[in-house]
Amino acid sequence: MKKQIAILGSTGSIGTQALQVIEEHPDQYEAYVLTANHRVEELIAQARRHQPEAVVIADEQHYQHLKEALSDLPIKVYAGMDALCQIVQEAPIDMVLTAMVGYAGLRPTMNAIRARKPIALANKETLVVAGELINELARVNGTPILPVDSEHSAVFQCLTGEVGNPIEKVILTASGGPFRTFSREQLAVVTKEQALHHPNWQMGAKITIDSATMMNKGFEVIEARWLFGVQPEQIEVVVHPQSVIHSMVQFEDGAIKAQLGMPDMRLPIQYAFSYPDRLHASFPRLDLRTCTSLTFEQPDLQRFRNLALAYEALNQGGNMPCIVNAANEICVAAFLQDRISFLDMSDVIAEAMQRVNFIRKPTYEDYVQTDTEARRITEEILTNER
Ligand code: NDP
Ligand code: MG
Repeated sequence: MKKQIAILGSTGSIGTQALQVIEEHPDQYEAYVLTANHRVEELIAQARRHQPEAVVIADEQHYQHLKEALSDLPIKVYAGMDALCQIVQEAPIDMVLTAMVGYAGLRPTMNAIRARKPIALANKETLVVAGELINELARVNGTPILPVDSEHSAVFQCLTGEVGNPIEKVILTASGGPFRTFSREQLAVVTKEQALHHPNWQMGAKITIDSATMMNKGFEVIEARWLFGVQPEQIEVVVHPQSVIHSMVQFEDGAIKAQLGMPDMRLPIQYAFSYPDRLHASFPRLDLRTCTSLTFEQPDLQRFRNLALAYEALNQGGNMPCIVNAANEICVAAFLQDRISFLDMSDVIAEAMQRVNFIRKPTYEDYVQTDTEARRITEEILTNER
């Protein structure tokens, strides 16, 4: 029986690499559902190639075109966010890969957890926004959440065989992004073109900007807190520009385990699909003979203030990480439209953290409201004060 995989966000960077993994193991995996937001031509091409049971386009205005383009094939075609949230619950689905970007991933992920579909989690924003709620939902339903983010996959791989051995520290590595060595004066004038050019990874635009500001690493700290049940002070970030060590775990006896490899997302995607097994992979191997040095630095929280803001939000708890996520989504979009400078992003997020109503024990409805409110206030800060 082939594992039936629903790929939410199949047209993105993670989605397309997941389809490559499926193509390399046609005897093991099949794409059951493919979804996109508005890149309809890419979705059509993927559907023709992979012949899934169904496709969903979130943006409803593309429905007619998608339906007509696939009318010669027995593929069900749906549109809209509600359809996307419902489809993850279909009985034949064995695993849901959440590879859509941003807050939009929260609702479908919650539905998949309720339907007891194991989650291969790429959409870290889901755990940033509502980690406590997601963990509780997964616990109640007995639904496993397997990390796809390379750092968390590394930690997960280090934890294999360590059942019952407490974690002393999780050490997340960070490449430092394209501006690792820039001064604040230089950071003040960087362009989106520079920020979109990541030294080690090819990723979607939003996460590439988050990597440049190090908000991505801040989000990964929050993600680690919920995935591995560790406290904020047990999570350390170390800058490791070569991106060879994907992350580490330190145990009670002081031993540190690390996972190394080429920077290639197909490995963590495949491991989430195949866990606890490992499957053959044809992509390039790390050659330690050509990798002459592995270096480590402390992250600079003055130059990369977003990382500090994410730690602050995690320590405050409640809906604060949700506020930071929403403010960050607005700021990244504004930066990509040249409406705001690189360093301004942190100032705007910090102000939104002050202004949006803090809720210590948020319900799902509180998160929805917080997200809306934080977006509104962030837009207000952007238009009124800049
Ligand atoms: P991309 O921008 O490349 O792809 C995002 C996908 O989600 C696309 O299929 C897009 O559709 C779809 N999408 C976007 N917005 C919506 C929406 N509102 N509703 C429904 N679908 C939507 O992103 P990435 O693949 O880079 O990242 C995806 C997730 O994985 C993010 O959460 C990111 O943080 C995480 N991640 C990514 C890594 C990477 O290497 N890329 C590494 C680790 C984590 P369309 O094509 O139509 O726009
Ligand atoms: Mg990562």
